Amino acid sequence: MKTIKIINGLVPDFKNRKFVQKDVFIEDGVITEVGAITKSADITIEAKNRIVSPGFIDIHMHEEVIDINEPDPYFTAYYELQMGVTTCAAGNCGNNRQSIETFKGYIDQNFSPVNYLTFIGHNYLRNQVGVEDRYRASTKNEIEKMKAIIEKYKTYGIIGISYGIEYSPGIETQEIIDLASALDSEHYLLSAHFREDGEKSVESIKELIQVAKDTKLPMQISHIGSCSAYGYMTQSLKVIEKSRQEGYSIFADCYPYDAFATFIGSAVFDEGCFERWNKTYHDILLTEDPYRNTRCTEELFYKVRKEYPNMIVAAFVMNEHEVVEAIQSPFIYVGSDSLFKKDSGHPRGAGSFPRVLSKYVREDQSLELIDALWKMTLGPAERLRLSNKGQIEVGMDADITIFNQERIKDSADYANPTAPPEGIDYVIVNGEIAVQDKKIVNGRLGKYVKYQLN
Ligand SMILES: [Zn+2]
Repeated sequence: MKTIKIINGLVPDFKNRKFVQKDVFIEDGVITEVGAITKSADITIEAKNRIVSPGFIDIHMHEEVIDINEPDPYFTAYYELQMGVTTCAAGNCGNNRQSIETFKGYIDQNFSPVNYLTFIGHNYLRNQVGVEDRYRASTKNEIEKMKAIIEKYKTYGIIGISYGIEYSPGIETQEIIDLASALDSEHYLLSAHFREDGEKSVESIKELIQVAKDTKLPMQISHIGSCSAYGYMTQSLKVIEKSRQEGYSIFADCYPYDAFATFIGSAVFDEGCFERWNKTYHDILLTEDPYRNTRCTEELFYKVRKEYPNMIVAAFVMNEHEVVEAIQSPFIYVGSDSLFKKDSGHPRGAGSFPRVLSKYVREDQSLELIDALWKMTLGPAERLRLSNKGQIEVGMDADITIFNQERIKDSADYANPTAPPEGIDYVIVNGEIAVQDKKIVNGRLGKYVKYQLN
């Protein structure tokens, strides 16, 4: 493996909330020296006026469906990599896109564009044990079967369990708690997509806090923007703040957009949703053929919901100032919630991290750069117990994103949701160059990472 030296860049010092000009030396996948370095390397990267950041960590995303018959089955992970993400947490919102055997097996053999960890998803497990009706609770017997599967996956190094309560309204709070009893270490992490948004959001967040109290496990509330940014963000953040003061480990993540995205056939769009959001059919954008980039009418909405229930749609229903309010909060990380089918989906999966840096930090000055970076690096690294990631220090994994804070900008939009961002010069994964000037030069540097319980 070639040695790399990055010179004259600005390295974040999170403890002292500042940037310091330092050189960084990389050898065998690890940062071996930081400071003023005179020795030479095989590759030297000039990073004057650039930020030399730990690689971004996406704590909330949805991995691709890996078709093992395809020569290159990755797509989501490439878009992540191009926006500076080097490590992703898969299996969120109760949903795994394939078995963990397939996921881990494929990555162990073939490597991947980013480092991947995974949750095991509750809704996925419900499917596995035959709970087909999303409006009913699981039986005791079915919960036991799900726990047996979790038991097996603990040996695969899962992060913990993810829940997608809104997608299966029949899930009872007790089912959530009973399932978590399969996790026998206080270090496992729960992540949960709330039960209902809008006026029900505060109540839904309280339910998740209750789960954290009863299970004594840390709780990561998923994409709080799409839960509470309808006039309820201030109240939601206060409720979380209070539980944190009581000693519970509650954090949340948020993506920087005012539209959420999911499958049109899901329970999210059940009767009553438009009244709850005070929005119309026209606020729903279809993202796939044969209606790609078309706004709904009432007729089209019901037609697509019936004929193409798995189509990803974007719903322009949130208040962006409340999304900003969330991201400003000290216990909220940036998480993309990336959701793609090849090249169709929501731009958040190719733009979230650069968008926070360009729009929220540089243009609107809603956030300081050092705080934004913490939410993308050290914060989620600590949450995911990645003790070797999230900082530019000796001994850390060499996952590094080098960017120009004056130029970084998301390019992905609803018409072209996978366009790579501007202003990222290099992305380094496990000590080798993965992206150089927007081009992926090596998309097989990432590994499957087992969650560390000790
Ligand atoms: Zn979700």
